[in-house]
Amino acid sequence: MGKRYYCDYCDRSFQDTLHNRKKHLNGVQHHRAKKAWFDNFRDAATVLNEERTKEHCRKFLQTGQCVFGASCRFSHMSERHMKLLEQKIDDEKRQKENPDQDGSSTVRSIDEWLSRREKKLAALTSGRVLKMEEEECGENIEIPPYLLSIPDLPPSLHPPPTGGWRVTQHNEWG
Ligand SMILES: [Zn+2]
Ligand SMILES: [Zn+2]
Repeated sequence: MGKRYYCDYCDRSFQDTLHNRKKHLNGVQHHRAKKAWFDNFRDAATVLNEERTKEHCRKFLQTGQCVFGASCRFSHMSERHMKLLEQKIDDEKRQKENPDQDGSSTVRSIDEWLSRREKKLAALTSGRVLKMEEEECGENIEIPPYLLSIPDLPPSLHPPPTGGWRVTQHNEWG
């Protein structure tokens, strides 16, 4: 019975032969798993900065394989992957700057968004939101008393007469 080689990164085992091991250790899957495993311990900004200083590994990006693997001096990260990482860094930065907005006011998942939307719709159909909006732009505008106590206000600052402005016709002009 042959020995079995267990790969921690990939969480899988195979018969331990030189050929199998070499094949596995050079495989794309293994490199991805290994990289992801290490990236868990570094923050995204460090990883990105490191990748940005390298040139793209043409061989890896074209064929998905590179004999140098993780020790390749060129970057195995695609432009798309870098963009995603950049986004992740941005998100993390924003969360650090505005910890209050984390979770409570930002929509984190589509489920949360949907349930909020449902509540909003329920409020709308029950007329609650509509009423609130009406109140906000209500017609009965309160005139502050101090304004009325100021003598000799220019006409433009006078409150409208009860019943609204009267439309007068100016026939005597001309
Ligand atoms: Zn592996
Ligand atoms: Zn490479």
